[in-house]
Amino acid sequence: MNIPFLDIKASNLELREQLQAAFDRTLDSGWYILGNEVKQFEEEFAAYCEAIHCIGVGNGLEALHLILRAYGIGAGDEVIVPSNTYIATWLAASYAGATPVPVEPDARTYNIDPMRIEVAVTPRTKAIIAVHLYGQPADMDAINAIGKKHSLKVIEDAAQGHGARYKGRRVGSLADAAGFSFYPGKNLGAIGDGGAVTTNDADLADKVRVLRNYGSRVKYHNEVNGFNSRLDELQAALLREKLKKLDEWNARRKALAAEYLRQLVGTKFGLPFVPEWADPVWHLFVVRSEQRDAMQTYLSAQGVGSMIHYPIPPHRQSAYSGLGFQQGSLPVAEAIHREVLSVPMGPHLSFEQQKMVIAALQTFQP
Ligand SMILES: *Cc1c(COP(=O)(O)O)cnc(C)c1O
Repeated sequence: MNIPFLDIKASNLELREQLQAAFDRTLDSGWYILGNEVKQFEEEFAAYCEAIHCIGVGNGLEALHLILRAYGIGAGDEVIVPSNTYIATWLAASYAGATPVPVEPDARTYNIDPMRIEVAVTPRTKAIIAVHLYGQPADMDAINAIGKKHSLKVIEDAAQGHGARYKGRRVGSLADAAGFSFYPGKNLGAIGDGGAVTTNDADLADKVRVLRNYGSRVKYHNEVNGFNSRLDELQAALLREKLKKLDEWNARRKALAAEYLRQLVGTKFGLPFVPEWADPVWHLFVVRSEQRDAMQTYLSAQGVGSMIHYPIPPHRQSAYSGLGFQQGSLPVAEAIHREVLSVPMGPHLSFEQQKMVIAALQTFQP
């Protein structure tokens, strides 16, 4: 039996009837861009995130990019980003014309280490983007305090964190603004691309709304040089159906994570560390080993799918060779990228399947 790393199709097929009805609803409406479905989804997702405003945009990268643009961050500015993240966090800063300045993670949580942020602040720094990596919230109180002290905007990259809680509060309303992705493999995924900005800042919400739609509030009246980055009407209709399932599916991930932690404690793997204030949604379940590549080969031979998040850190990508980082520049992130492996995790992984994954991990001999 082969166990896939993630069965995205199963989630969508579980909702086949609802998704088909949503498609029909959109088709019959005759209105295919920024219609009622986007408007309804924005209200529902804002409420879900305990935020006042939600603006649907084209994807997660655009969500972060438009937040930076709306705050007037651009050429000559610096944006603090985690060294350990998906490259989109960095690209958002680059798209805006700013320079990403990496800060190393806490070696236990993999999230940006608040203790290391302040030394990276310069007179050019305008914002900090914290990522809720692998579905675990970053330490937002500590990060917000630094932002406040230095008058920096604090932005959440919540692309992996839909529904996670920090000290009881949902991600998406923990800082100045947040960017979400609805890429199909995320905890809340569309059947295509999608993204959203959530915020309690009415002025920012208004600016992002204008920027996503050609800089226009009234058709053919363009106030600023905007973009075409709208959440698709059809994807919004589909996401409304999937949002109803998100808590149930996240609960399922939590049960699987608890079982992994119970069964793998005391084995040779580094396991996820969850601070007492964090309620993660387990976008990924990441184990760590110096023999990571051999482990992946072994799992694969046992029919167990796995993935590496991520094999090359952003500062070592050729896309960022211009920033001049060398091998060894950011050693915490580099070690993580060498040693982590994401094992099967998702709402449609059965406990039977998980037993086989655990057995394969336990019999792996480094
Ligand atoms: C997926 C992801 C993004 C980008 O989302 P897209 O919708 O693919 O543009 C940004 N940041 C993180 C941490 C992500 O995982």
